[in-house]
Amino acid sequence: MDNREVAWTLLEIGKMVELRGDSKFAGQSYKRAARLIERSEPIKKLIDENKLRNLEGIGDRIAQNIMDMVKLGHSPKLEKLREQVPCGLREMIDIPNLTSQKVHLLYKELNIDTIDKLEKAIASKRLLSVKGFGLSTIGDIKSGIEQYKQRGRTFLLGLALPLAYSYLKEIREMDCVKNAEVVGEIRRMKETVSSVEIIVLTDDTQKFLTTLKKNNIEIDSNKEKRTLEFEGNYNIPVKIYLSPEEKYGIEKIIYTGSEKHVQDLEALGLLKQRSDNEGQVYDSIGLKYIPPFLREGDREIELARDDRLPNLISVKDIVGDLHLHSHYSDGLNSIEELVKAAKRMGYQYIAITDHSQSLKIAKGLTKERILEQWREIDRIQGKYHIKILKGIEVDILADGSLDFQDDFLEQFDIVVASVHSHFKQHQNEMTARIMKAVANPNVDIIGHATGRLIQKRMPYDVDIKKVLNYAKDYKIAFEINSSPDRLDLNSENILLAKELGLKIAINTDSHSTLEFANILLGVGTGQRGYLEKKDVLNCWEKEELLAYLRG
Ligand SMILES: [Zn+2]
Ligand SMILES: [Zn+2]
Repeated sequence: MDNREVAWTLLEIGKMVELRGDSKFAGQSYKRAARLIERSEPIKKLIDENKLRNLEGIGDRIAQNIMDMVKLGHSPKLEKLREQVPCGLREMIDIPNLTSQKVHLLYKELNIDTIDKLEKAIASKRLLSVKGFGLSTIGDIKSGIEQYKQRGRTFLLGLALPLAYSYLKEIREMDCVKNAEVVGEIRRMKETVSSVEIIVLTDDTQKFLTTLKKNNIEIDSNKEKRTLEFEGNYNIPVKIYLSPEEKYGIEKIIYTGSEKHVQDLEALGLLKQRSDNEGQVYDSIGLKYIPPFLREGDREIELARDDRLPNLISVKDIVGDLHLHSHYSDGLNSIEELVKAAKRMGYQYIAITDHSQSLKIAKGLTKERILEQWREIDRIQGKYHIKILKGIEVDILADGSLDFQDDFLEQFDIVVASVHSHFKQHQNEMTARIMKAVANPNVDIIGHATGRLIQKRMPYDVDIKKVLNYAKDYKIAFEINSSPDRLDLNSENILLAKELGLKIAINTDSHSTLEFANILLGVGTGQRGYLEKKDVLNCWEKEELLAYLRG
C-alpha cells in the first residue's frame, strides 16, 4: 500500500465509524490522519524509521491500524466495520450535503437505510420529526439526491488517474499485449469519472485472461466477451476493452468519447475507417488530430476542420508554481525542501505563499513571522538558481478588504488572494467581495475562485461570470488550483476567462512536496479549457514573469 491507499482506507474507516454512530471525534481522528498521511513521507519509510507516532494527531491505535494494513495489504478493521454497517448507508453518504452523522441519525431515528426510503420519508414529511432536520436542511438533501442521481457514482480524477496508469503499466508489461492505452473520461481529464477504462490489443486473449488472474485480478472469463469488468482499488469499476488490430484506432476514439464527439465523427464516416492509428483516422475523415481533452462535442470538430485548434499547453510547459505552503503556516515542508522539490520538477521559479494572520486554523502568519520568512528566503536564495518569490495567500475578508494593509502587501513579490471564511454570504455580497479583491492593485492572482470542494462542498454563491467580466479591465490572473478536490476554476470558466483575455496561473497549492505531482490535474483542466502557453503565467520564462509582476 502507498500513502494514497492508506489515506483512502483511513478515510473509509472514518466514515464507517461515523455511520456506526461512534463519537464524533473518533471519525474525525481517522479523517485527520488520512490527510496527514496523504502529505507525509512515503509510508514504508515512516514505519521503518518508527516515525509514524511522531506525526501530530496519530495516536497508538491509528498507528497500529496503519501498520496492520501496510503489512497485510488490506485493512481487517475496515472489513469488520463494513460488515457492521448496512450497505445502503454506505451509498447514502455519497449524496452531497448529507454527512455520515446525519445518515446515522436518520437510520437510528427512522430506520432509513436506503436512498429510496430517504426519498419517501422526505415526501411524507417524516424527516421533519428528526432533530436538526429543518426545511432548509431537507431542501439541501433533496438537491443532493438529485445531483447524485444525475452523476451516479463518481470518483475524483486525482484518485482514478494514478490507478488507471498503474493498471496500464501492468498490462503493457504482459508479452501477449501488443498495445494498450487509457481511454474514457480519464483520458479526457474530466474532474470526476465513473470508471477506469483501458483498451487493449492482444494476440492471445486466453493468455491475457490467465495473466490477469495471476496478477490477482478475477474476471469471470468468457473468451467471447470483448469487455472485461472488475472492481479495482478504491472500489472503482475497471473496464478493459479487447480490440482487434484493424479497429484499434477507431475503437480508441470510440471508447475515449465523449458520446457527442463520437456521434459527430460518425456523421463524417468514422465507422468506415480501418486503421490502428488515431491520427490517421481523423485525417481520413478530413480533420486535424483532436486531443482527447477537447473531445466534448462542443466546437472542436469545426476547429479541426478549419485547422484552428489551439496549441494546447502540456505539463512540460510548466516552469514554476505560484502557490505553495511551507511549515511556516500549515505546510509540512521547509522552504528549502520546497525549493529542492521544485528543482526536481525542473522549475525556474516558485512562490512561497503561506496563509495570512486571520486564518488561525492554518497557522496564518503575522507580519513579524513574514519578515522572518523573508530573511530565510534571502539566505536560501543564494544557494539556488531557482527564483524564490516572496509571496502570501492573503485572506479576502468578509467585506472584501484584505488581511494586510496595502503598504505591506506592496512589498511582496506576488500576492494570491483567496476566500477562506464566511462561505454563506449571499450572491451579491460574495460577488462584490471578490470583485473588490480583483480591483486591488497589489493582488496578482485570485486563488480557488469559487471555493468548491468537489463531492464535498458546493461553490459559495458567487456570480463568477460577473467577476471574470469585471476582471478584464484589471491586471489580474485567476488560478486553476490543482488540488484533486478543487480544480477551480473549472474548464468552462477557464474558457470564458481566456476569451476575456484574462491570464491563468496553474498552481498546486501544495502543502507538501508530494502534492507537486497534482500539477498534472491542473494542466488537464487547463487543456480542457483550451489554454495555450501565452495564457498561463507559470508557462512564462522567469524574466518574462518577473517583468510582468513588477509592471
Ligand atoms: Zn486557499
Ligand atoms: Zn493555499
